[in-house]
Amino acid sequence: MILVTGGMGYIGSHTCVELINAGFTPIILDNLCNSHKNVLERIETITGQKPTFIEGDIRDSELLNKVFSNYPIDAVIHFAGLKAVGESVQHPLRYYDNNVVGSLSLVQAMEKAGVKRLIFSSSATVYGCSSTEPITESFSTKAVNPYGQSKLILETMFTDICHADPEWQMVILRYFNPIGAHESGLIGEDPNGIPNNLLPFISQVAIGKRDKLQVFGGDYDTHDGTGVRDYIHVCDLASGHVAALNHLPYKSNCLAVNLGTGKGYSVLDVINAFEKASNKKIPYDVVERRLGDIDIYFADASLANSLLNWQAQFNIDDMCRDTWRWQQKNPNGYLG
Ligand code: NAD
Ligand code: UDP
Repeated sequence: MILVTGGMGYIGSHTCVELINAGFTPIILDNLCNSHKNVLERIETITGQKPTFIEGDIRDSELLNKVFSNYPIDAVIHFAGLKAVGESVQHPLRYYDNNVVGSLSLVQAMEKAGVKRLIFSSSATVYGCSSTEPITESFSTKAVNPYGQSKLILETMFTDICHADPEWQMVILRYFNPIGAHESGLIGEDPNGIPNNLLPFISQVAIGKRDKLQVFGGDYDTHDGTGVRDYIHVCDLASGHVAALNHLPYKSNCLAVNLGTGKGYSVLDVINAFEKASNKKIPYDVVERRLGDIDIYFADASLANSLLNWQAQFNIDDMCRDTWRWQQKNPNGYLG
């Protein structure tokens, strides 16, 4: 069994589908602070299997000890965490408590139970600076906000644990920009309130929930002046976790691996692709840069290819098509 913390969330739910399709049995631990219970039924509709679900918090050590003693867990995929950059600047303690203290309590329980295989959700935000070259895993790291700092602290903690005890097997996955949804349109990203991220915002404009998009900055040093990112389909990201899981037994150290497509698209490129996919016009205004944003970054994804035998399959048109299908089928997210 694979314990999936945060498995009811956006990336976790897609990864549970991939795990089941690959013959693994996921068991989800999630406190539902940013997800809905009906994700379980949706996973069942897609795969024919309903994962075991435990509602609870990774900071609850007693609960974790029970979970590890009651279920035959071979490895943990650890998604549970808070992820809103702006909120992390306003409420840093919330982020250090949930993300850092939560992950500490998780690895302590794993150590106690002798479960020493972990795949961790990190982020390309740990690189913290712009680059016109593809970013390799050996680029220097820098935290630019408390959210990024929480990821860096955890990367360091996991690396130290592996160095001290070579029985640990860990893969740290640094995601670039996950977008898209499962092709069924049954699971997808369901942000609370006004979306911070580009794709959820664009799709809410397309469906008529918001008037227009604000494009943050038109004077970046990029091909059309708008910010460039490496968008990756969430199903590709999910299959990257299965690839990492299959790889775990062959290594005994802590390794960071980028998951991206290796291609960068600007905000205007994404708007064009989304207009094509949805056949809707996306009105937008170019406004001031958003504080803390950087010009351009995209992955060198060759390590994931050579080491995990993984590479992204979906392109930007697929990503926009699937985001739009999810938005149309679920105009109010999981609430209907
Ligand atoms: P999400 O919010 O959709 O999923 C996270 C899940 O974890 C939610 O279901 C939430 O209820 C749960 N959770 C949060 N704190 C918890 C706790 N203390 N105990 C138990 N459950 C808890 O987010 P996501 O987009 O699926 O992201 C998953 C992971 O990937 C996060 O760690 C995030 O930082 C990381 N990540 C996300 C992105 C992105 O753009 N979505 C990019 C890079 C890294
Ligand atoms: N962006 C934008 N308008 C929005 C949201 C995002 O122009 O309403 C831009 C943002 O400046 C960045 C890109 O879209 O260049 C991706 O932003 P997102 O927040 O999705 O991801 P980030 O790369 O910041 O994690």
